[in-house]
Amino acid sequence: MISLRNISKAYPAAERNVRALADIDLDIVKGEIFGIIGASGAGKSTLVRLINLLESPSSGEIQVDGRATAAANGKELRALRRDIGMVFQHFNLLNAKTVAQNIAFPLELAGELARPQIKARVQELLERVGLLDHANKYPRQLSGGQKQRVGIARALAGRPKILLSDEATSALDPQTTQSVLRLLSEINRDIGITIILITHEMDVVRRICDRVAVLDGGRIVEKGAVEEVFLHP
Ligand code: ADP
Ligand code: ADP
Repeated sequence: MISLRNISKAYPAAERNVRALADIDLDIVKGEIFGIIGASGAGKSTLVRLINLLESPSSGEIQVDGRATAAANGKELRALRRDIGMVFQHFNLLNAKTVAQNIAFPLELAGELARPQIKARVQELLERVGLLDHANKYPRQLSGGQKQRVGIARALAGRPKILLSDEATSALDPQTTQSVLRLLSEINRDIGITIILITHEMDVVRRICDRVAVLDGGRIVEKGAVEEVFLHP
């Protein structure tokens, strides 16, 4: 689904030879929930920007759904980016729009669906994330968990192949974290979407990921099935 082959990333402003990421090899398989865990400074944000194709690697190759990204032009990159739905730590909702309008917004920008189709899609998404009764509320009227459900619905609106969650539960209390993780699991199970979870929380990975890569100092130091990486003696 997504593959990173021998990826390195150095920032021009950084000290000579200091790389944010080095020798990253990852193959994320269709339908799995893949966790990427690391402490602050490990390179997680850099990896997110590479995976969602907002930045390009200094060396190495990234493929999304079998397509190489290096040679893609602007239009092709935009198309590839639409295969990836993003969920953010701080939700990134528009405060002046209602829940339904926030979810509809990416569909309106894409301009591919007519208004009745958008409305039907929004209804379907509201139902999926359990917010049918909150369609006409504004973000300030919602709890953190509800805001993240809106974020998840919006990310799914364009039917992406991959959901990329960047610390999606880091601003939530433990109980709300659990319910959001449960929702992500259900979505993975029901629509088979591939999920990449970037987190600094071990518990998040333990709870819902199939496989995990541990990032430290810009390198992957361990990778494998969650029970192998976390539970071996
Ligand atoms: P994390 O998200 O795990 O905290 P980052 O990807 O933000 O890690 O950072 C990894 C390394 O890359 C750090 O040493 C950081 O200082 C450096 N870095 C990140 N972004 C930039 C940038 N825009 N310019 C220079 N260095 C950066
Ligand atoms: P309109 O432009 O018809 O006034 P709004 O600005 O209220 O619509 O909403 C923008 C988008 O959000 C529309 O595509 C609409 O389908 C969707 N939307 C708004 N409210 C709801 C709702 N309660 N249920 C489903 N979709 C909604």
